[in-house]
Amino acid sequence: MAIIRFKALEESLNRVPVKYKAPSSLISDYFGINVFDRKKMQKYLSAEAFAHVMEAIEKGTRIDRKIADQVASGMKTWAVENSALRYAHWFQPLTEGTAEKHDAFIDFDTNGDIIESFSGKMLVQQEPDASSFPSGGIRNTFEARGYTAWDPSSPAFIMENTLSIPTIFVSYTGEALDNKTPLLKALHAVDKAAVDVCQYFDKDVSKVIATLGWEQEYFLVDEALYNARPDLVLTGRTLMGHASSKDQQLEDHYFNSIPERVDDFINELEIEAYKLGIPIKTRHNEVAPNQFECAPIYEECNLAVDHNVLLMDLMKRIARHHRFAVLHHEKPFNHVNGSGKHCNWSLATNTGVNLLSPGKNPKSNLQFLTFLVNTIKAVHNHADLLRASVASVGNTHRLGANEAPPAIISVFIGAQLTRMLEQLEKKVGSKKMSPDEKTELKLNVIKVPQILLDNTDRNRTSPFAFTGNKFEFRAVGSSANPAIAMIALNAAVAEQLIEFKKDVDKLINKGVKKDEAIFQVIRKYSIESKDIRFEGNNYSDEWKEEALKRGLKNEPNTVKAYDFYLTDSAKKLFAGLDVMTERENDARTHVRWDTYTKKIQIEARVLGDLVMNHVVPTALRYQTELIRNVTGMKEIFSDKEFKELAGGRIELIREISEHTGYIKSKVNEMVETRKVVNKITDEREKALEYSTKVFCFLEDIRYHVDKLELIVDDEFWTLPKYRELLFTR
Ligand code: ADP
Ligand code: MG
Repeated sequence: MAIIRFKALEESLNRVPVKYKAPSSLISDYFGINVFDRKKMQKYLSAEAFAHVMEAIEKGTRIDRKIADQVASGMKTWAVENSALRYAHWFQPLTEGTAEKHDAFIDFDTNGDIIESFSGKMLVQQEPDASSFPSGGIRNTFEARGYTAWDPSSPAFIMENTLSIPTIFVSYTGEALDNKTPLLKALHAVDKAAVDVCQYFDKDVSKVIATLGWEQEYFLVDEALYNARPDLVLTGRTLMGHASSKDQQLEDHYFNSIPERVDDFINELEIEAYKLGIPIKTRHNEVAPNQFECAPIYEECNLAVDHNVLLMDLMKRIARHHRFAVLHHEKPFNHVNGSGKHCNWSLATNTGVNLLSPGKNPKSNLQFLTFLVNTIKAVHNHADLLRASVASVGNTHRLGANEAPPAIISVFIGAQLTRMLEQLEKKVGSKKMSPDEKTELKLNVIKVPQILLDNTDRNRTSPFAFTGNKFEFRAVGSSANPAIAMIALNAAVAEQLIEFKKDVDKLINKGVKKDEAIFQVIRKYSIESKDIRFEGNNYSDEWKEEALKRGLKNEPNTVKAYDFYLTDSAKKLFAGLDVMTERENDARTHVRWDTYTKKIQIEARVLGDLVMNHVVPTALRYQTELIRNVTGMKEIFSDKEFKELAGGRIELIREISEHTGYIKSKVNEMVETRKVVNKITDEREKALEYSTKVFCFLEDIRYHVDKLELIVDDEFWTLPKYRELLFTR
């Protein structure tokens, strides 16, 4: 058995680098060549069709059938010229990742002959067999009809000879079965609410987009070693493995040069990403060995989400060319850092203003403060929901576990802005401000420095931090579809901005001057949401206590965190903004419970199999060897000498018996527990029991397996070890 491991190692060490050449040394020469973007639309569409598509993108208007036919025809011409053989509606179901249904560009004509064909109907709508996608009970399987419908705001692209058309995925009855549909609705809501508020400051603002810049962390593991670890293959993480004697203590991996084979992989990834119009900007090593990060220039939120899920897909494919497996899991290895997906978020107007960027004059600074404080207030109102939006099986190992970020949602804004909000708040006591006080306050607002991008003022421990001209939501998991967190955040901000407008208008109607009214409301909000602001160390125990006093929720349990989706305030938020009906929201929660249960079930089974088929037999084989050795010693040594010399070995034999015995009984217990829990019919209850009663076995069993790994002769151990997985490149 040991051979497998060494063969895998040998294979991994003998990899030949695979070089990949960019079509040109200038990225701008080939950026987006595989995307049916504006320029190509202009070339391939009639002026009329082009105008309609642009209007649909900008205003969300519908495209009628006649125009759709024209668009389809132009799109097909372009796609076929660029070696596409088929087309697919590309969507983001409630499972992880993306899905697509491929169809060839063919049809029978009226004579029954095969012709190349792609009509407006095929572009606009498709009916995939949806029965195997989770729907949380919305769609009965015998009525397994779901529709995908074109999202013109995200351009079609060609990947692997397929014209991929970004679509939403809805049930026969029109309910959303995907992540894109509610995201588009939340983005629409925040657009409208923000435009209304911007009217106080600038009448030219007619559109506000949410911007998203994600930072994707991941691990690379040699393919041969990966394949020799069934736990990695089947669950995405290692269910066992003793810490490598060297891991990240020296932090020497961070900012070190990137190893050659990894560099080759990243080069190819970036070239392919550029062809797909994904503007990758940075790449670097992360803290843990074999951990890396890439980040694009930020984009409009819906497009940025599509680009993230597309890139994750691309990573997996390209990794294979370089004989790597890419791990998107939040915690593939114990003892070393996990992976996140920081989501940088802001709002930008059609007039080119970043609403979270301090302005040049008092007016634009008041606008900045308005959006800053409203965002803080939105997070304060819906902290629970934001916590729920980042909850997942994988992220359980990060949030509230021994690692950043914590499960308590709080907002960090830095010392300067904190001082400023404190000044604002002080004025509340006085019933009416004197003209002097008003002037002073305004002067203070003017004093907000235009550039707050001071890196020294960064708090790396905060789950939601203001970083100069944007907020950074750091609690999102590396494997998550960022749409899920963005739905919650944008909806929360939209609702808050609507509230703000109401409150300000109320004062204006009472005769208060506009600026004064805005000041008063911001002040009120700043005080009301003060508790969510925290500038200290979010990892400390003092913060846990302090947060408890402030009434902030600290829910490390994933299943319980999902409950925050079902509170009245969450339901009201989604339904009120038309982001999701209560039924849709409920259905999603069912899918979450079900996914949770299934994932832990799989982890438990895989661990059970691995320990019984690999670990215990290996340990016993080594123990037999030791016993043979000890019996031999007994024959050649005197009793006294034997006692002196064989003591350590006998101790080892005993330890192996103890660990294997413990493992066997724990595995049996785990199986029995699962049998009981599986009988529970209530899905929430079942998931909750999995999270408490079954989950703990995983760590418990692992502890003894990892002890055995230390004892057993390396030659015998069948599974690649941490030092091999983490340090082979
Ligand atoms: P770092 O956090 O490493 O200092 P940056 O501040 O440049 O790096 O940005 C990190 C990420 O934030 C990048 O993906 C970047 O595109 C994104 N970002 C920058 N500005 C915005 C913005 N206004 N809205 C959304 N994302 C942004
Ligand atoms: Mg970051």
